[in-house]
Amino acid sequence: MSFHTDEMIKTLIKRVLPCLLIFILCLLLLVWGGGFLKKDSPNLKTYVKKQTTSNINHTNQPNDKNNIEPTNNTDEQNNYVPQEQDGSYLPDFVMEYYQNNKQAANQVLSNDIKTIPSIIPAKKDGGVPVLYYHAVDDIINGVEELFVSPAEFEQQMKYLKDNNYTVISFDELPMADKYKNPVIITFDDGYEDNYTNAYPILKEFNFKATIFLCTNVIDKPQYLKKDQISNMSDLISIQSHTISHTKLSTLKIGDLDKELEGSQKILTDLTGKPVNVIAYPFGDYNKTVLQETKKYYSYAVTIDKGFYYKNNDRYQIKRIYVPRELDIKGFAEKINGIW
Ligand SMILES: [Zn+2]
Repeated sequence: MSFHTDEMIKTLIKRVLPCLLIFILCLLLLVWGGGFLKKDSPNLKTYVKKQTTSNINHTNQPNDKNNIEPTNNTDEQNNYVPQEQDGSYLPDFVMEYYQNNKQAANQVLSNDIKTIPSIIPAKKDGGVPVLYYHAVDDIINGVEELFVSPAEFEQQMKYLKDNNYTVISFDELPMADKYKNPVIITFDDGYEDNYTNAYPILKEFNFKATIFLCTNVIDKPQYLKKDQISNMSDLISIQSHTISHTKLSTLKIGDLDKELEGSQKILTDLTGKPVNVIAYPFGDYNKTVLQETKKYYSYAVTIDKGFYYKNNDRYQIKRIYVPRELDIKGFAEKINGIW
């Protein structure tokens, strides 16, 4: 009997002890792992803690519902976390963190925010975003990225409205600082869907826009017709994208002047309105192009990325490209200079 008991004890020790050890080891690993994770992700918390007292009220809070509430966690009395974000802002300190560490902030914030663009408040550094589109259509007839979905376009216009942007024209650009969150909307090439799809949406928001039109394509299939140009003249300014969409830097001076002056004359005759802005085809220009453009136009836009700041060269105005694949979050980032 005692022999059997001894054997049983030995067997138990042999079989149970390793299991017990493994269990303890697992338990230790769990505890250690938890601690490690906690240590590894405090960046936002620490940052928030540091900043809460000074920055918590520096926000454009549209209503109380969107207030940032303190958590009930007594260990972290000073930690504030975003809650019920369906409005249009987050505090500056979260923004600052977001800009410094987009990926990590995305993970943290996405749990709490339903409308992603709301995490980015309207910019306030005085730069004017000049947006540029091409076609606005879900029927892709050409290079896909040039065709922004009308639904996306509408959402983008809504973003501008919800975030109190003021849509201005090029003639208002020199005094842009008089407007709240000024922005300019432009379209290149003169696609017909600018009238059939974009114009009704612009009308809905009462936003003005500029279409840079190549005079050679007027009345051609897929491009704007004369009567459409005239029908949307309440909001749409037609400006030059040259006659033939040629790289201007490659032209001899005579041909260059023909593209600049010729397109201006055709468009002025057509619309009966001043044509004083040009978009360089392919964003291409050089010293000669700049010099000649100044003879006929007051403003010229490029495809270089950036905002327009007061005292920038009016003949090298940067723009913000809006391609099809840009979702509303990307749009909000771009228009706020996060790229
Ligand atoms: Zn073009």
